[in-house]
Formats: sequence, structure tokens, C-alpha cells
Amino acid sequence: MYVDVALPIPIEQVFTYGVPEACITQEDTHGSFIGRRVKVPFGKKLRYGVIVREYHNDTPQFDIKKILQISSLIDKDPILGPEDIARAQWVSDFYFASLGESLACVSPTMKAKKPRSLAQGPSRHEARMTASDDQLAIIQDLMTKEKGWFYLFGITGSGKTEVFLRCAEHHIQQGKQVLYLVPEIALSYQLQHMLLPRFQSRYAVLHSRLTESERLSEWQRIARGDVDIVLGTRSAVFAPLTRLGLIIIDEEQDSSYKSESSPRYHARQVAMHRVKTESAVLLMGSATPSVESWYAMQQGVFARYDLRERIGDSRLPVIRSVDMHFEEKIFSEELLEHLKDTVERKKQSILFINRRGFANVLTCKFCRTTLLCQQCSIPLVYHKKKGIMLCHYCNYSCGVPRYCHSCNSVNMFYRGFGAQLIEEELHRYFPSTQIARLDRDVSAVRGEVQSILERFRNEEISILFGTQMIAKGFDFPEVELVAIISADIGLHVPDFRATERIFSQIVQVSGRSGRRARQGKVFVQTHTPSHHAIQHAIAHEYSSFYKHELSLRKTLGFPPYTRFIRVVFTASSNQKLQQAVSDIAAALPAPSDIEQLGPAMCPIERIAGKYRMHIIFSSPKFGNLHAHIRDILGILRSNHSIRVEVDVDPLHTS
Ligand code: ADP
Ligand code: ZN
Ligand code: ZN
Repeated sequence: MYVDVALPIPIEQVFTYGVPEACITQEDTHGSFIGRRVKVPFGKKLRYGVIVREYHNDTPQFDIKKILQISSLIDKDPILGPEDIARAQWVSDFYFASLGESLACVSPTMKAKKPRSLAQGPSRHEARMTASDDQLAIIQDLMTKEKGWFYLFGITGSGKTEVFLRCAEHHIQQGKQVLYLVPEIALSYQLQHMLLPRFQSRYAVLHSRLTESERLSEWQRIARGDVDIVLGTRSAVFAPLTRLGLIIIDEEQDSSYKSESSPRYHARQVAMHRVKTESAVLLMGSATPSVESWYAMQQGVFARYDLRERIGDSRLPVIRSVDMHFEEKIFSEELLEHLKDTVERKKQSILFINRRGFANVLTCKFCRTTLLCQQCSIPLVYHKKKGIMLCHYCNYSCGVPRYCHSCNSVNMFYRGFGAQLIEEELHRYFPSTQIARLDRDVSAVRGEVQSILERFRNEEISILFGTQMIAKGFDFPEVELVAIISADIGLHVPDFRATERIFSQIVQVSGRSGRRARQGKVFVQTHTPSHHAIQHAIAHEYSSFYKHELSLRKTLGFPPYTRFIRVVFTASSNQKLQQAVSDIAAALPAPSDIEQLGPAMCPIERIAGKYRMHIIFSSPKFGNLHAHIRDILGILRSNHSIRVEVDVDPLHTS
């Protein structure tokens, strides 16, 4: 007997292997082989793969003598069902990844592991509350929906979680299952306390901090139908629920929903596909929808619900921008004063720093203009070696200007600081205060995030400072002061989404303060207080922000008015790369409805010794764009010296 095996490698092809008699007769000859994992010889190595086809009487069409045998069968029963495989196939087609890569992403683990059940964490008992009138109206309307795409646009602290949970309960009462996606693992801890009293043991969690054995165990519980609700981060969107009624995506705008390795899928896109094919409801929510989703709401593609008020007596915080132009230190006098006051009154503070580093962009100290590409309105990046300013979208370059083009000042600068320095400064100002840091480094230690969050909740920590991780979703009642140390950091990266990201960050971070009756205070330190994202965010002017941003995007022909597909080429020889990429561009000129930016060097020109170039294609017609990329890949498959990676709807263009 023969089978086709998909391997998690970037080659768009499956491989045929023979199944030894012993494997067939051993246990169950009746069961299907499709969806079972195997170990097979490939090149000089053994690799894990998934069987995607079996040949019974029909033999594969090539020389049987050359076919290798699989070396072992891992699963007695298929770990992936036909629906899981179909989903992987869809991901593979949509995102130009191989079937094997997509299957690896859909599977709980590729390796042979023994399932180990997950210890349920301790749970505080969260009292059930009465839904407010606003919440109730939305919940009741949503209960009448059996399928479709919906969006809950509610300001921070407006009680979106309660709406999500009630909708979940409703679908479960109807005998359906629910998938609840959150952007951060840390947020899933907060939610577990709410799930346990409601759903007892009939919930599962899926996130990247689980060991492979734990993940396998959770996966099997879900596949057996033992759970009603699955809580998880991005990859949980592939959970093998068979009676799906509802998918919830909390903090829909969050970039962690997009995978940054192949297949570069977006959980929202997969969820939209899933609810369509499985006839279920998709309910997204946020205080700061992505610009794409806002546009989809305007167009009526997503039906929108609004929560315009905070729960109870809580008010939105007062946000102040602090002009850092005249400040020499990390903390402005104003912030420091309020921070001291907050610490003295034994209230809590959160300080937010942006993790995304600096690109070397040039800003005028005097008029604060940042040097932009004339064509793309994206900051030009300084390249020290060549001594030029370069656009990483269209490849425009120019010499480094000696003076500012808007005001003629010669005072051009770039400056920045890191998390380490901030930590040192904090300890210097507040030597006897409990301070904790929460960022990627900390989260690498198992259990550490949960422990810090618990201590902060119990008010053992006064000042919490950290990155994206603490920016959204958290509900800590005693937080009064919130500050963004440098709101500009994210703004001057060569990326058209920088503006929306900074807007969302300010609103989300601010949303952590004053969540109970007390008035919260927020400080936004910035060099560009007049930037429209900052202005709109501090004034709580949400719709005007989107209006402004959409009109800019329209003028520039950027998403959501078009869609982007980015193709990255890598090779060890720069010369070969340049040649191959310009050959491709020449061999397949883009049709008139497709815009081609580049080829240009990627902002990160070399990774692991390999040179990198990219072309960004854009078009208002996604179907045509997708087909054009298919054609390009067809040509490229014959060229083995360069590697190609495709990113559909890229979030970053590094
Ligand atoms: P959001 O996700 O919209 O920012 P949350 O769902 O975290 O807001 O709710 C904010 C706070 O309000 C939470 O502490 C929550 O427990 C509380 N809350 C939500 N709904 C109600 C309600 N109906 N009655 C009382 N408190 C509520
Ligand atoms: Zn200037
Ligand atoms: Zn440009």
C-alpha cells in the first residue's frame, strides 16, 4: 500500500511512500491512514509528516521500485480529520504556503508525544453580574443571529467581555461550541477566572506556552467533543471543534493575530473563512478596530454594535500629551511629579514602552518634520554604509540632507533609549518602591507572567512597566496613572500602519487607568504632539481618527482601498539576487490593475548572511492580485538559487 505524505517544508509538493505490511496488519487495517502522522526518510534525515492520501488499488503513477517506505506510524487514529485537512488546504492556497507547512500549523504537534493533561490553575471566584441595559440590548440582538460577521465597537472599560461571555453561553445552550481568541497569553489567564465558574471543566486552552504534550492533550479533548469552549491565542483558530457556533476575537486589531512565519495567516481571515463554511457567527471586538475593520463596518461587511459608555460610574481618563521637545530626561518633570504623588498615595501606575525599535529616520529638531519619501509618505531610512536615505517601499534614495527642507534648520536628529535605562531610572527615583517589568524576556520564564500579574492585582507591586503585553485588555481596578514613555517610537518606522498602531496604543494603554469610579490620569510623552494620531487619541475622537486615516490611505492607494501582497526574495549572492529579481519583474510585467512597488532591498537587508529583496504588489482587485502572484511563483519554481516567501496582507515589511 502507498500513501502521500505532506512534509512541513517550503516545497509545494507531497511525497509518496510505501507502508510496510507490519504497519498495516499491526492494529487496525480498517481505519483510514489519512490524517495520521508518520516519520519518513527524506534526504539524509528522518522527518515528521502527515498522510494526506492513500492508494488502495490504484497505484501511484511512477516507478514503484524507487519508492521509499515510511519508517514509522505515529498515530493509531488520525490526529487530523478531513475538516482539519481541508482547512490546511485552504490556508495553503490562500497564503501560498506548502500543504505540509499549513498542516504543521493546524496540528497540535508534529512530534511523537504522549499527551499530558494540563493542570488547571487556581481560580478566583468571579461573581456573576447583571448585564447593563446597553449590554443587554446587544446580547439580545446577537442571540437572534446564527451566522455572519459582527463587530462590537466599545470603548475601554465598557464591558465587552460580559457581552462575549453571554453570547458564548447562549450558543452553548443551543448545543454549539465556542472559540474565544485573545491576543496575549497573559490575557487568557485573566479570562480563565471567568470561564471556570461558568463552564466548569468543559473548557480547553490552547496557546504557545503549553508544552507539546499539554497541547496534544487539550487538542484530543477538543477533538473528542469534551469541551464547549476553547480559549486561546492565534493558532487556536484551528481548534478541531465540530459543532462550531461562535468565534470571538477580542482586541481584533492586535498584530499578534498575524503569523510572522509561513503560513503567514491572519486569525481573523481564517475565522471569517471558518464561520462561512461552518455556518457560525464571528464576533470581533475592540475599542480601536483595525483601519481595515473600520472600513468593513462602513461598507456594511461587518455589522457593528456600539458600547459608548464605561460601566457604572467609571469615566474615561484625562489624557495629556507632554511635549518632550524641551525635556532632556526620560521622564518629564510633569510625569515624575504625578508618579511620585501616585506612589505616595499607594495607588498603582503602569508605564508603557514601545518594543519596536528605532529605525534610523531623520527628524528636524526645530520644526519636527520627519524626512519622508515623496511617493510613499513613509519615512526614509538612513543607511550608514552608503550614506544615503532610502525608501524601503519604492527604492527611492537621496543623499542625507544637510538642512531641513521645511524650515531650513540644520538641526536634524535622532535619539532614543531602551527598556534597561528606564528600569535603572525608575529604581533611582523610587528606591523603596516595588517595581516590576513585564516584557518578552520576562515572559520567557514559565509562570513568571502569571505571577507578576497576580502580584500586581494584589497590589504588592506599585509600578508595572512593560511593552505591548500590558497595553490592552487588562482590568486592574486600582490603576490610576498610566504613561506612555515615548509615543513617537512606533511612529517613525517605515510602515504605513505605524499611525494606526500608535493611535491604538495610546487609547488601549490609557484604557487601563481609572477603571473604577476614580478618575484616571494618562501622560503621553511625545516629540510630535500635533500628530493626528496623537491628537485624536488624547481627545477620544475615534471616528475622526478613522476618517482622517482613511482619507490618507485612499490618496496613497493603501489598504483597505487596495490589498498588498509582499514577495520576499533571498539568496546568498547579492548579484544573483538582483539579477533574478529584475528578470522576474521583466518577464511578468504587472497587469494594469496591479501596482508594483520595487523591487527594493528589504529594510533588513541581510539575515543570516542571505541578501533580501522584496516587491510589494497592490491592487483593489484581490482576486487578480492573487492570480498574478501565482503566476510569478510558477516562473520562480524553476530557479533554485533564490528562495521566495510570500506575505498576503503583510503587517510588517522588514
Ligand atoms: P472592556 O473589555 O470593554 O474594556 P471589561 O469587559 O473588562 O471592559 O469590563 C470592564 C469592567 O466592568 C470589568 O471589571 C467588569 O467586571 C465590569 N463590568 C462589566 N459589565 C458589568 C456589569 N454589567 N455590571 C457591573 N460590572 C460590569
Ligand atoms: Zn525643520
Ligand atoms: Zn517610496
